[in-house]
Parts: sequence; structure tokens; C-alpha cells
Amino acid sequence: MHHTRRRKFFRMPLKELKKLRDDIQTAIDELEALPEKRKIDLAAEHSGKAEMIHEIIDIEGESGKRKWTQWETIYCSPEKCSECPHGPFMFTYRANKKGTVRIVDYGIPAFDIRALKEMEKHIEPPIFEGTFEEFKQLIRKEREDEGLEG
Ligand SMILES: [Zn+2]
Repeated sequence: MHHTRRRKFFRMPLKELKKLRDDIQTAIDELEALPEKRKIDLAAEHSGKAEMIHEIIDIEGESGKRKWTQWETIYCSPEKCSECPHGPFMFTYRANKKGTVRIVDYGIPAFDIRALKEMEKHIEPPIFEGTFEEFKQLIRKEREDEGLEG
């Protein structure tokens, strides 16, 4: 942990710090005893190496240039567990000047990215551009023109 992030602990009473340590250790023990890894841990442990990526579902930005975001399904290990692949997860990559690529952010998308992409395909242009009031007026006028109303 970075020194500045640790500094806040130096203001706490030792008694509180020890309680915090014990609570954290209890949480770690419980999480490590889970039969399956949680999504957040799978995402956090992902290296971004090509052989650990099952599928790149979507890319935002230009892959390999400075910073970009990918939605991926991933393998949790080279051995691949029975639940593999996992995800989709979101990973933000950054490439430095030397071309070294690393993950700088990750997350679990709130929406199913594959479902959203599928929905995008079916989006049609609006049948009317304007307010709902203007739309109702247009319909009224059309009906009047057809002699159905008025
Ligand atoms: Zn797996």
C-alpha cells in the first residue's frame, strides 16, 4: 500500500487498528474459503495477457494506443476451470511509450454488454422528431385531412 494511503492509520489508536486488522483477516479467511472465486476477484487477478482472454466483445478507443477499454470474457487460469470462461468484465488498458501494456482499471458491467450490442443492431431511426405534443397535433391534422375527425 502506498505510504500516503497508510498515513491515516498512524492517527488511529492501536486498539482500533488491531480490531481493524482482525476484521480484515476474518473477511479474507471467509472469502478464501468460498468454493468459487468471486467475480470481482477474477477481474482483479486478470493479467490482460492474450492467452487469458476468451473473447473481446467490444472495444472503446483504439486498441494499443495510450488508453482504451475492452469488454472481455476471460480464463481464470491457464488450466481453465469448469466454469471458464468468466465475465464479461470491463478492463481499461494503458500502453506506455515503450509499448508495455497494463490494466489500470477493471469492473463488472452493470448491463450485459452482449445484450446491449444486440439491441443496438435493432435500433431504428425515430418516426417523428419533435415533442409528443407536436406528434399528437400531426396525427390530429392527418385525421382531419382524411376526414375522420372534425
Ligand atoms: Zn475459470
